[in-house]
Amino acid sequence: MAKKEKNFKWPKIGEEGHNVKVVKEVPIDPKFEGWGNLGRMSIAGYRIIEANEGPRIDKLGTRRYMRVYRPYDIMYNHSYGRVSKFFEGLLEKKIYGTQCPQCRDKFMPPRAHCWRPECNLQETEWIELKPQGILHSYTILGFAAEAFLPQLPFVLGYVRVDGCNTLIALRVAMEEAGYMIEEVECDTPVNIKFIDEPKGSVLDIYAVPSEKPKSRRTPEQKEHLIKQIEIISSWVKKKYG
Ligand SMILES: [Zn+2]
Repeated sequence: MAKKEKNFKWPKIGEEGHNVKVVKEVPIDPKFEGWGNLGRMSIAGYRIIEANEGPRIDKLGTRRYMRVYRPYDIMYNHSYGRVSKFFEGLLEKKIYGTQCPQCRDKFMPPRAHCWRPECNLQETEWIELKPQGILHSYTILGFAAEAFLPQLPFVLGYVRVDGCNTLIALRVAMEEAGYMIEEVECDTPVNIKFIDEPKGSVLDIYAVPSEKPKSRRTPEQKEHLIKQIEIISSWVKKKYG
């Protein structure tokens, strides 16, 4: 059984600290109670392993390592602060950005204050935006944090929502519009789509091309890219099936 920390207080439904009122909540799943106190980074076991190592997944050698297992989990508790409305909007499948009432610059992702020195930290106002924009730039991911490895390879892009002066990083789902990853190009118009059940995270939204991307690659460049994508796909298939 997990030991509970003396001062650890699990937030009760509807209860908050001094001068804080709970307006709405999805309570924390009780299965996570005590979860943050398990393990405490102690070594729970170890292994000596031989594993791949190399600069690229098609150029790997073998090396011997010691691996230790340290249980460590955190209930990450943070406020979205003044841009909270954007995340609340995601729950309703709406895209909210902000606009400076002085210079009229529009921000998505939202900024609570204007970025222009001449606007002197002017507070911005909320505006609802159409879920569409332009793919400003992109990368094709061949490696990622563990949670995203099974989804590789995929496109991560910077999207400029129509009318806005800032860019948001979003996954670009080429397959959802019937295109191949290697067809991705800058300046492609995109629609912003929501996952079925938004949770109030930037991962609730992603971009899908709304027009066929205009290719700027030479046949050689395209062939090289397809080969690189195949290497990643076969590695992911081998690892995750
Ligand atoms: Zn301004």
